[in-house]
Formats: sequence, structure tokens, C-alpha cells
Amino acid sequence: MNLDAEARATLDEAGRAEGWALPLLQALVETNSHADNAAGLAACHRLLAPRLEALGLATRPMRTSAGALVRDHLLAETPAVAGPTVLLLGHLDTVYPPDEVFPFVVDGPRWRGPGIADMKGGVVTALVTLALLARRGAFTRARFRLLLVSDEEQGSPTGAPALDRAARDASLALAFEAARTCGNLVVARKGQGIATVVVRGASGHAGIDHGRAGNALTALARVVVAAEELEALAPCLTVSPGGAVTVTPAALSCIPDRATCELEWRFYDEAAGARVVDELTARAAAIATSERVTIEVDARIETPPMAPSPASELLVGRYAAAARRLGMDVRGVHTAGVGDINRAARAGATCLDGVGPEGGGFHSRDEFLVIDSIARRAAMNAMALCDHLR
Ligand SMILES: [Zn+2]
Repeated sequence: MNLDAEARATLDEAGRAEGWALPLLQALVETNSHADNAAGLAACHRLLAPRLEALGLATRPMRTSAGALVRDHLLAETPAVAGPTVLLLGHLDTVYPPDEVFPFVVDGPRWRGPGIADMKGGVVTALVTLALLARRGAFTRARFRLLLVSDEEQGSPTGAPALDRAARDASLALAFEAARTCGNLVVARKGQGIATVVVRGASGHAGIDHGRAGNALTALARVVVAAEELEALAPCLTVSPGGAVTVTPAALSCIPDRATCELEWRFYDEAAGARVVDELTARAAAIATSERVTIEVDARIETPPMAPSPASELLVGRYAAAARRLGMDVRGVHTAGVGDINRAARAGATCLDGVGPEGGGFHSRDEFLVIDSIARRAAMNAMALCDHLR
């Protein structure tokens, strides 16, 4: 592969950064950092802070809480400048509690270990990207802010307020989660709505009172079917009943007087997501009347979508161009999964996810990272961002 001079120089420099980046990755992977392991997360912060400071970023813990839960996230940023703020996102927590870890192993081109792909490899890729950006003078054209949250794998209960704070003035947000298949980037993520449905009927004898009392389970079944029909409201809208399903009393000879379930729906279009709340409430009210029961629907939008926009398409174009110059072929794809970056999208930033390295086996003992992808992906990020911020 013949690379142009800039691509070659960027890739060579990223390769030289492996000298500090790969030992740092190994140390991070060998430090357990399950979200409930505060000492392990603090140790990861201590591993990262000196390198970030050396790159010219000021670091500090960002402490946030959710109820009784208090956690520290790591924030690092370059000095304020007249240009835009670019937010780099990652998480340091993994799904493995301290007693479920497995050894770090170098397996040829694949390195293995807990959290190496999800997403300590991405965190290290963000640092190499920052090193390349610093050398290219990008810190004078934009302010770069890195936020590494501590409980993404638990749905970011305390990470959410940290993300909101870090994203408030960001015009661009990049999440260093691992690349999709073929190195692709995530340009859109669905939003998620959730609902709890509680049906109350009248108890009675299944034989004697049949037809007289409202059967809570029958009514709940009708709500579930009506909810699924809401998928017709918008393309790509999905509605999934599930969660905590209960029926009481559980005896077959009794008419159930209470039945509950949960529902979740996913959508690219925010207005369609909101319409589900109204429609579900209206249809449940109609079913309550016809089935002679009462139905409570507690429905809300839990996470807004990260929708594609002309600005994000432009950014993907810059990434695709940079990737091509580095001998890679990437494009933007959509995913139904919700991520931390959805919060940055709500704050108004142009968002791109999956800019991290290539790996697989997430959340399993087969987790691996293609180790030379750190340099390639960091070079892609640095070239695309320099182009974008020119
Ligand atoms: Zn994960």
C-alpha cells in the first residue's frame, strides 16, 4: 500500500506512540475496574493522569452521584481557546467483577484480557489520538475534553450527569467504543423509551365469576398487542414487551386481579418516540373501559436518539477520506443500541461513535483487541479531525 506523505508520517508517529501506549494498555487491563470497584477505578485514573498531563491536558476527578451512589469519573482537557470544544468519550469500567477476571495474554496480533476491547483499547486510542493532535497544533484550534466515565456498563447512573456537564458546550463528540464490523463508524443510535403497565381488575372464582369480573391478565395481553401495533407509527420503530411480568393471584382457579409488565421502544425519530407515550396511554385507557379494569401506564423517553444529520454525514465523510488515505475502507452505520454518546447528542453536539480500535468477544472471556488497529485508528481520528477543524 502506497500512502501519501502525511498519512505515512501520521501512521509512523502513531506506531512510535505504541512504545508508551501498549504498556499502558496492559497495565489498565491488569487493573480490575468493575464499576463497583472504586479502588480499581482510582488506580486506572492514576495510570492515565500522568500521560494526559504530559500531553498537555489538565486532569481532575469529576464526582457525581445518583441517589446513594457516588462515583468519580476522569476529566481531562486542553486549555480554553477561541475555537470549538471537541468531546472525546470513553468508559473505564468493565463488566467483570474482581473474582471473574481472566489473564491478560498476548496472542500474536490479538491481545486478550478483561475490558481490552470494551473499552480500555479505545481509551488508549483516544490518548494516542490526542498525542497526534498535539503534534499537529490542533490544541490551538479547538479545545479537547476527554471524559472517561466509571459506570457505563451499568447504564451510566452517575455517568449521565457527568456526560451532561461535559457535553454542554461541545460542538463535536466522539466516542471511542470499538469499531463495528469492517471498521465502520456509528453515525446514528436509536433512542429508548420505557413504560411500566399496571392493570387492576376484580378477583373472583374462575368458574363462578367468569365474565363478571375484569380479568387483569386478559386486559394486559390486549395492551401488549396494542403496544406492538404502535410500530406502524414510524419506520424502524420497535416496541418490545418484557421486563418484570407479574400476575396475581397465581392460582389457576382465581381470576387475576393484578397484572403488570414493562415495555421498551426504540426509535431514530424523537417525535415518533414521544408519540408512543401518548398513543400507549390512549389505547390503554380504551382497553381499560372495554375490559372493565383500571390501567396505569407510566411511560417516558429514557434516552433521546443520536440521529444522523448533515453535520454528522460531513464528519463521516472526513473520516472515510482519512481512512482511505491510510488504506482502510470505513463508512457510517446505524445501530439500535443506546450509548453514552446519546447524551451528547441531546446536548446538541455532532456525534460519531465507534471511532476506537478493532476487537470482539465483548463481555466474554474471548474478548480480544487487534493490537495494530490502535495506531491505524488513532491516525484516522487525528487526520479526520485536523481536516474537520481546519
Ligand atoms: Zn460493554
